[in-house]
Parts: sequence; structure tokens; C-alpha cells
Amino acid sequence: MKMIPVSEPCLRGNETKYLLDCVQSGWVSSLGKYITMFEKNFADFCGVKHGIAVSNGTTALHLALATLGIGAGDEVIVPTLSFIATANAVHYTNATVVFADCEPETWNIDPREIEKKITSRTKAIIPVHLYGHPADMDPILAIAKKHNLIVIEDAAEAHGALYKGKRVGSFGQMGTFSFYGNKIITTGEGGIITTDDDELDNRLRFLRDHAMAPEKRYWHTEVGFNYRMTNMQAALGVAQMEQVEEFIERKRQIAERYISGLSGLSNITLPPQASWAKSVYWMFSILLNPEFPLSRDEFLLQLKAAGVDNRPFFYPIHEMPPYASDSGSFPVAEDLSRRGLNLPSAVTLTDDEIDSICQIIRSLAKQ
Ligand SMILES: *Cc1c(COP(=O)(O)O)cnc(C)c1O
Repeated sequence: MKMIPVSEPCLRGNETKYLLDCVQSGWVSSLGKYITMFEKNFADFCGVKHGIAVSNGTTALHLALATLGIGAGDEVIVPTLSFIATANAVHYTNATVVFADCEPETWNIDPREIEKKITSRTKAIIPVHLYGHPADMDPILAIAKKHNLIVIEDAAEAHGALYKGKRVGSFGQMGTFSFYGNKIITTGEGGIITTDDDELDNRLRFLRDHAMAPEKRYWHTEVGFNYRMTNMQAALGVAQMEQVEEFIERKRQIAERYISGLSGLSNITLPPQASWAKSVYWMFSILLNPEFPLSRDEFLLQLKAAGVDNRPFFYPIHEMPPYASDSGSFPVAEDLSRRGLNLPSAVTLTDDEIDSICQIIRSLAKQ
């Protein structure tokens, strides 16, 4: 039996053509026309001035933090319910990771919890737009303004998601995205930082390329990084950007079809969409309610046995060994993490497949 994947890239556009062009022209490394095009296309897509392409979404976060000079003694607030990279990027700078709980309504970082975690050492907040749904940016930006903090949006899972009509990645001083194989668009591995700030743009480019003095080759005035993206990755990116609106549209159709196919099941919770949000449903995700007849993990096993691949929600980061010293209380994240799961969400998924997945879930829900 063929397993329906949780995710798979869709590479049916100009990917091969542009990639071949890189190889045949010799522009395979980190200079070339696709880099410039990709950075411009992506910045335009987000409605910002600059896009700085990097090697992956984790280096995007690290470079954003390093650019601000965040380091030992500083504190950065992140949601505990996220992919580990959000916390790791802070850890790499030697700053302290401070976790905040999330809100049950959107599954994203709770602004009230952020406020409780602010100290004199807090330097930045990294809201994550989890599973494609934007975080509630207005209160987060208001808190940041009040306490003079930087906001970096981790938009790795939410390319094109709208908060009050505006695309994510355009709210904080910087936004970061990932182009890993399962994200909304992919470059194989890849990432980008978005910003409207000319000075940050300059400094991000400088640190991305070993902090080499622009006017003096091989003269390095600081310790920088090699976080460059290759022209080959960007070639895939340019081809993917030609299809991004279609991908987002398909993600939304998939979500609608799941929502109607699963409607009326009282023992599951469907994914949120706040009145001010337009989610891109990176992963179509549901929660099992306490009265569901199977445990979450048993349900995942049975789905898999029926040919439907799936993922559990992320573990709250504060529970994992590198970060377990955080003694805070995170009841919402812990509850969501134990009850949540991602269903197949690839843009290649067919309507028939969605219908059959809904049938399987309906029968498991009524055991
Ligand atoms: C995927 C992801 C990242 C990291 O991106 P990579 O490209 O895999 O390094 C960071 N944050 C979140 C929330 C992610 O989902």
C-alpha cells in the first residue's frame, strides 16, 4: 500500500530548467543571477524592501540575532511550542532562551505570557507563526515598543500568511523564513531574512559573508559567518516563487476540504483561524479532545497502518534536555503538544485522498 505523505515538494515548474542553466553556465556557487532574482521576488512577495538569502532557516534566525549583537547576558523570549531551531538560534549566540506559553485560540505565543517574562535583560522577542497561522502581532509589537525590544518573526512555516491583510515577515524589524523540503516553497535547504531597514540589510549581508570589509578584499573586521545560499538553491527558489500563490491557494483548499470532511466530529478540534488572520495551513493540524476513544499516539499508529502518514505536534522545547532547566509553567503548550497532530498537507494531495483520510478519521473517532 502506498502511504499518503505528510508533505512532499512540488517541483513541476521551471525548477529543472533553471537548475540546468546554473550547471551549464558554471554559476553554481553563491554568486549569480538567481540569487538576486530570488531575493527581490521574495521581498516583493512579503511587501518589504530587502531579502537576504541564506543557507537555511536556522542560519537565518542566527544571523538575525547576531546582526543585532545579541549575546551572553541577554535574554530572548520564544514560544515553547515551536520547532527546536527557534530556541537553538538564540542558544548559539550565548544569550538565554526564555520560554513563553501559547494561547489556546491560535496555538501561538501568548502576548500576556511574553509580558510576564520581560526583565531588564530582555532584548528581543521571536514570535513563531506556527503551522501557517500568524501570531497576534499587534499586542506583541505594542509590548516590544513599550519595553524597547526587537521583534524577529520566525515565519518558517507561514510564507504568505496574512495578519490583518498584511503578509507575515513584514511586521518585525526582521522576519526569517525556511525553504526546507517540506515548507510552503523549497530550495532544498535554504532560508531568507526579510527587512525594511537599510542598515540591517547591509549588516546582514556583511556578516553572511565572513564580515569582509566591502572596500578591502580578505580584510575582516569582525568574526562573521558563511551563511550564503547558492545560485542553484536560488534557481529552485525562483521557479518555486512562480508557483507560490497557487501553492497557498491549494493549501487553503485542502484545509477547507478537511474542515468540511471532518465537520460534526465533536471529539476533535479543528485548526484555528482568527478573525484577523488568513492562515496558509502549512500543516493541516487537529487536536484530539479528551473524550476521543484512542490516545493520540495510538491514533497516529492506526492512521499510519491505514496508509496515512502523520506527525505528532512538536514537543514543548522546555521539556527537552538542553532546555529543561526552565522552571516556568506552560500548561497550554503542554496540552496542545500532547493532543495535536499534523495530517497529510502536501499541495500534491488529491481531493480523493483527503476524502478517504476523513473517512478513516471518522471511523476511528467512533470506535
Ligand atoms: C523549519 C523551521 C525552522 C528551521 O528551518 P531550517 O531551514 O530547517 O533550518 C525554524 N523555525 C521553524 C518554526 C521551523 O518550522
